[in-house]
Amino acid sequence: MELQRLAVQGKTLGFVPTMGALHEGHLSLIRKSNQENDVTIVSIFVNPTQFGPKEDLKKYPRPLGKDLRRLRKEKVDFVFLPAAETMYPEGYAAALRKVKVDRISREMSRRLCGKFRPGHFKGVLCVVEKLFRMVRPNRAYFGAKDFQQAALIARMNLKWNLGIQMRVLPTLRENDGLAMSSRNIYLSRKDRIRARAISRTLFWISREILQGKRNLLDIRTQAIKELGKFVDEVQYFEIVEPETLKPLHVRRRDVVVLTACRVGKTRLIDNVIIQQKKPETSNQD
Ligand code: AMP
Repeated sequence: MELQRLAVQGKTLGFVPTMGALHEGHLSLIRKSNQENDVTIVSIFVNPTQFGPKEDLKKYPRPLGKDLRRLRKEKVDFVFLPAAETMYPEGYAAALRKVKVDRISREMSRRLCGKFRPGHFKGVLCVVEKLFRMVRPNRAYFGAKDFQQAALIARMNLKWNLGIQMRVLPTLRENDGLAMSSRNIYLSRKDRIRARAISRTLFWISREILQGKRNLLDIRTQAIKELGKFVDEVQYFEIVEPETLKPLHVRRRDVVVLTACRVGKTRLIDNVIIQQKKPETSNQD
């Protein structure tokens, strides 16, 4: 296979797994991979095992032609577009049964989004492990936008000694602060305006914490109250320890503030990482 030949030649391979409907956030990962590696491969696969039965698997946007044009423009070397049967020859249920997670990862996967999307992270880990084993990249690129996902994949990478360098890059935002997401196209014009409250509140809370407010329980309560004025449901708003995703009551060191809100029928997630010293790009090996 072509990729193996490249490995033999000592070329470094960067991998950007996506579900398509590419936006600038995805492209920022691809550009970084292009900079840091000899060869970049992007996968587009709308992974059925990470969607719940009532979720948007069927209507998830799949503008394949447009995506391929963008990838060509970015000079991506390989695009991997697997069929569901290629990823899951053993069937979905059998593949999910094979996913083994340690106790800490299991706890982490049940927090935050895991509470509202049971089984979601099992599906994510299932597909990413398969993709990692198929592609065997030197580096893999993920967005901090999906912080919980990146944290769980980083743990899996360590646990299975997959030896891939995990690169987690900052969230790209629209001019008004809304985190870019393939799901933003679901928002009506009015909902799109209401959705601004999500990043606005995260930035406000981030300033409060940076200015020295220490009572995180208090800050969280204020944030939920403020967000609740604009969105239809605040599923969670948590200030957590980055390594374990456990809620913090008092500021100790680096923290991540994460939220998931429903605006109309659309579920949106966002977060801010508040670090003491390090720059915003984190490089988790
Ligand atoms: P998805 O296609 O939604 O599965 O996302 C593919 C990758 O792009 C994941 O690693 C996401 O975290 C990342 N990503 C999604 N949105 C953004 C964004 N706004 N900024 C940076 N990365 C993003």
